[in-house]
Amino acid sequence: MSLWEQRFHPLREEWVVVAAHRQNRPWIGETIAHRQEPPPSYAADCTFCPGNTRVSGVTNPVYTDVFAFDNDAPCVGENAPDPEPPSASIFENRPARGIARVVCYSPRHDMTLAELPLRDVTRLVEVWQQQYRDLGRRAGIDHVLIFENKGAVVGVSNPHPHGQIYATNFVFKHIENEVRAADRHRAKTGHVLFQDILEAEVHDGRRILFENATAIAFVPYFARYAYEVYVAPKATVPSVDALSAAEAVDFAEALLHVTVKYDNLWNRPFPYVMALHQAPTDGGDYSGFHFHAEFHPPLRKPDLLKYLAGPEIGGGNFLSDTTPEEKAAELRALPSVHYTLR
Ligand SMILES: [Zn+2]
Ligand SMILES: [Zn+2]
Repeated sequence: MSLWEQRFHPLREEWVVVAAHRQNRPWIGETIAHRQEPPPSYAADCTFCPGNTRVSGVTNPVYTDVFAFDNDAPCVGENAPDPEPPSASIFENRPARGIARVVCYSPRHDMTLAELPLRDVTRLVEVWQQQYRDLGRRAGIDHVLIFENKGAVVGVSNPHPHGQIYATNFVFKHIENEVRAADRHRAKTGHVLFQDILEAEVHDGRRILFENATAIAFVPYFARYAYEVYVAPKATVPSVDALSAAEAVDFAEALLHVTVKYDNLWNRPFPYVMALHQAPTDGGDYSGFHFHAEFHPPLRKPDLLKYLAGPEIGGGNFLSDTTPEEKAAELRALPSVHYTLR
């Protein structure tokens, strides 16, 4: 069966072109032979390992679980000066202020999120809660973006498991879009947009990867990337911080499940960009905003990147040559125990 259709992405309010053909079958090869040497559990030259000294000259404590610290090379500065006004009124500028942090998931240099025990992933979710709370309530911080870039193909050279936080004086574009889309949907239907998506996904069922009492993971109907996955609490809460202790454990379990499936795809660490989409912290009313995590993996086959080219960069709409149903089925069929533990 081939599929030529456009699917509407209600959170981004844009169309995704799905052009999937039968001859373009999922990759079913053997384990990649050229798997890199696994990293050591401690690396003397790693700036994130416990007890090591960072570029700023600060020495890391000998931490034993999750460790957050201010980024030594931040993209936004806490005391960025006001910029020179632009030369013409059509141009606009403003200072990029904020706080950038690094969150090490584990003292172990050789671990990834997918290999951590649930207890440690839960601890990570708790640290995210703490960070969102602490940074979000500061004056001048309008948004807290928590994310992880994983793998060399998304520009990460240090394998030490870590994510980052940008707490900024502006709201990131995707969040701004989602807020607007949710508001519009609520005005039109009285419903929370993300709840309507969840209901439709559960009703269809084919793209659901995981579900427990309070959390769910799925490949969205309107996925742009082949292995795109959303992880969300079932109840509408604006941020990770609003999860109860039990919901935080369930959310951690869903995250872990997804990352294990990813690594099990080709029996090697699977690269992705993961971001928590949370309500802004600028004091607005975000009761209709439904917190979720989005995984955007750049690979569509082993060693084969989804290149962003003419349609995506030139035209602004994603073109997918796989269907979300087929990719969800592929992920669902994989073992839920990490390949290194089997
Ligand atoms: Zn390290
Ligand atoms: Zn989102």
